[in-house]
Amino acid sequence: MSNAFADVNRYFERAAAVLNLSREVVEQLVTPYRELRVECTIRMDNGSIRTFTGYRVQHDNSRGPFKGGLRYHPDVDIDEVRALASLMTWKTAVVGIPFGGAKGGISVDPSQLSVFELERLTRKFVAGIHDLIGDSVDIPAPDVNTNAQVMAWIMDEYSKFHGFHPGVVTGKPVDLFGSVGRDEATGRGVVIALEELLRTQAQQLSDATYVVQGFGNVGSHTARILHERGGRVIGIGDHTASFYDTSGLDIPSALAHVKEKRVLAGWTGAPQIQNSEILLKPCDVLIPAALGGVITKDNADKLQCRIIAEGANGPTTPEADEILRHRSITVLPDIFANAGGVTVSYFEWVQNLQQFAWDENKVRVELERVMRNAFRHLNQTAAKHHIDLRTAAFVVAIDRVARATAQRGL
Ligand code: NAD
Repeated sequence: MSNAFADVNRYFERAAAVLNLSREVVEQLVTPYRELRVECTIRMDNGSIRTFTGYRVQHDNSRGPFKGGLRYHPDVDIDEVRALASLMTWKTAVVGIPFGGAKGGISVDPSQLSVFELERLTRKFVAGIHDLIGDSVDIPAPDVNTNAQVMAWIMDEYSKFHGFHPGVVTGKPVDLFGSVGRDEATGRGVVIALEELLRTQAQQLSDATYVVQGFGNVGSHTARILHERGGRVIGIGDHTASFYDTSGLDIPSALAHVKEKRVLAGWTGAPQIQNSEILLKPCDVLIPAALGGVITKDNADKLQCRIIAEGANGPTTPEADEILRHRSITVLPDIFANAGGVTVSYFEWVQNLQQFAWDENKVRVELERVMRNAFRHLNQTAAKHHIDLRTAAFVVAIDRVARATAQRGL
């Protein structure tokens, strides 16, 4: 077994030991249900032809339809998609929404494609998988380098084969059956998770300083909401530039720059640092919100924070996690901390099925309810078994999936 999937399964195994699960059940829960690999050949704008490889891994659907994002990135491969699909199974279970876990991706650098090429690629991918997705089967959503526009193309292409089913995909534009509040949901969820954790330490969001790596969907909304709630965001960075100032950053100014230029490079609002330094800078709360595998055994003992909130999926390797536990750095694990996105995706799906749109206040109230309940359950589980929050999150999730699996039978 290669890396990313093996890493997730190390966390899984630790929790399975707490639950005393049998080998047979462990094997059943770990094994993905279905893995799909499709050829996506498109004509480029210059007339040439190129072939890309797309993947969809459906990990588990014992608690509801498969659910998970779609990523466009050159590093996408079957192992990564498999790992992310299994994380989705545990994530939907931790927050108790009626979905299973899946993930998809295309191995492509979308910055090298025109918008027309991206549209053709997306439609080709959907043509390859449309029989195996659907609003009661498997529901994709945005992830790295995919957005509401990509989701709109997916909905439209799917409708050519199966008719009107807006619930086949979430994260759509609000004008096209999307939900208000979906865009910011993951970031808002990270902030709610942090608020709950800080409360257990008799602290508020405004008592802490924050460093955020990644300034895309998750990172930028997290930084914005923290700033709005009085938190001092002292570091931000994306793949083009990083900034750090202990007196606090002007987040609205950085957001305005990114809105215009799409990246942080060129922002003059704060002193610039090397990208490699951003994770190592002193702060109370470090929020990795870019790619996976950034906190490793090589840097875990150099981090200068007391809390890590995993906005990204899989940002911490198991070896690093071990070091963080010995250093008593509290980790809000990805399967809980960034579950706000899939939670509001669930709300979008509910609205699509009912053909009844919620207002923003309802979305926020329901998101808060789901995240706060999940944290309470997580925290109680951690205290009961004397385990860290990540292991507790897997314990809660695996217990739910194992019970649903057993009740369904073979
Ligand atoms: P995005 O494409 O909107 O943004 C990614 C950000 O990461 C960009 O700012 C990019 O510049 C930055 N980045 C990429 N490589 C980097 C590097 N080497 N160093 C520093 N920054 C780098 O993606 P997103 O949707 O914000 O997703 C970010 C992470 O959050 C991913 O791990 C994703 O799986 C996870 N996630 C996303 C959602 C969601 O709703 N979008 C939900 C849950 C988890």
